[in-house]
Amino acid sequence: MAKKFLQTPQGMPDILPKEQIFFERVLAVVKDFAHFYGFKKIDTPILEFTELFEKGIGYSSDIVEKEMYTFETRGGDSLTLRPEGTAPIARVYLQHGMQNLPQPLKLYYWGSFFRHERPQEGRYRQFHQFGFEVLGEQSPAIDAQVVQLSYRILEALKIKPLTILINSIGCNLCRPYFKKVLKNYYNARAGQICPDCKKRLKKNPLRVLDCKEEKCQQVKNQAPKIIDHLCEECKNHFREVLEFLDEVHLPYILDHYLVRGLDYYTRTVFEIVPVDVSDFGKGKEFEAGSQATLVGGGRYDDLIKLFSRKEVPAMGSAGGIERIIKEMKLGGERLPHSKGPAIFLAQLGDLGKRKSLKLFEDFQKAKILVAESFGRDSIKSQLKIADKLRVKYTLILGQKEALDGTIILREMESGRQEIMKLDKVVDMMKKRLKR
Ligand code: ATP
Ligand code: MG
Repeated sequence: MAKKFLQTPQGMPDILPKEQIFFERVLAVVKDFAHFYGFKKIDTPILEFTELFEKGIGYSSDIVEKEMYTFETRGGDSLTLRPEGTAPIARVYLQHGMQNLPQPLKLYYWGSFFRHERPQEGRYRQFHQFGFEVLGEQSPAIDAQVVQLSYRILEALKIKPLTILINSIGCNLCRPYFKKVLKNYYNARAGQICPDCKKRLKKNPLRVLDCKEEKCQQVKNQAPKIIDHLCEECKNHFREVLEFLDEVHLPYILDHYLVRGLDYYTRTVFEIVPVDVSDFGKGKEFEAGSQATLVGGGRYDDLIKLFSRKEVPAMGSAGGIERIIKEMKLGGERLPHSKGPAIFLAQLGDLGKRKSLKLFEDFQKAKILVAESFGRDSIKSQLKIADKLRVKYTLILGQKEALDGTIILREMESGRQEIMKLDKVVDMMKKRLKR
């Protein structure tokens, strides 16, 4: 058994060099789409005052109740490692007076998030998300655009199949009545639900629909649907969102029991799962498992109101990068790979080594990637490394060449060698690599 302190904390894996390329690929696609859709990047600190999340996400949410990493600072403040990105964005909006900027304000972020959950595949305690937030606009076109953007990113990452699950959870006019209806239904079946749901029923009844327990799923299947209880405005808003999605041919399913785990959502809520739209209703959606949701989001018209008196409608989404990467790998599509160097620089003798260090810099300035092994002295072991790296060329700078101001170029496949002028080699190699 290795010593505990020599292991990462549970659920907080290292991201090793071979994994980085996937993260880079996701980030590149996110960046590209964000730019195109008019989103500006924002970074917020990893820590915020605990109250921000308690108020923003809701005291009775799973996150606040059991998943936050909270501690007291030496100065006596209570801070929390961010479990999600939306409450911090709401804070940013208010703190920096962003309501005075042209609206809607479109921001995107990327970073690590922390939740004390039971670690398992696709569920970690430190994980990464990218997210999009649009503040100051209530048009259903924005809801559709955020769904569209989230979907197109997954599509660009070659994840197949994909389905959008979508629902409306109404507003504070129509939701209270639905909560009563739901409560009555569940109270009549109190014997068939889990202890957590019994508590949820008292504190926040909508949450029972979000329960992942098998027996609660059974009860949920016949539960009343919020869509039958939406007010006129919410109904129209939702209809328009769906019409926009139809317009851009996005495959969605109405999921009447989708509520999402956070308190601040209003109206549109959605998730994107890696399941074929035609497989819904055949049970295949459950095969994907509860760790399958790649992107989740929705409208949060009431969040900013919790912090100030301002009415700021908003809509956003967040993607789980580890889960997205897992799907990229499963997809069997050509995975991203980094281009290794085409040149290896081998050196021999004191003078050869010294001049190699300088030459290496010249290549760097010319932006030509060159591998080296300056720690080694034997030419044989250096050539072995060059072979392993499968470089196209090896440059050999020995004592004699260093004195002559020359260098040997060896074409690895044919073994052919020629001598070049040292001060011309960067230009010559640039030309060769273009061929
Ligand atoms: P779940 O229902 O799977 O717990 P959630 O509703 O808590 O998800 P969100 O808060 O909406 O998730 O986060 C957005 C996305 O971030 C999720 O769809 C998922 O892809 C990812 N995510 C959430 N929690 C984790 C976690 N603990 N580990 C890895 N990814 C996560
Ligand atoms: Mg969760």
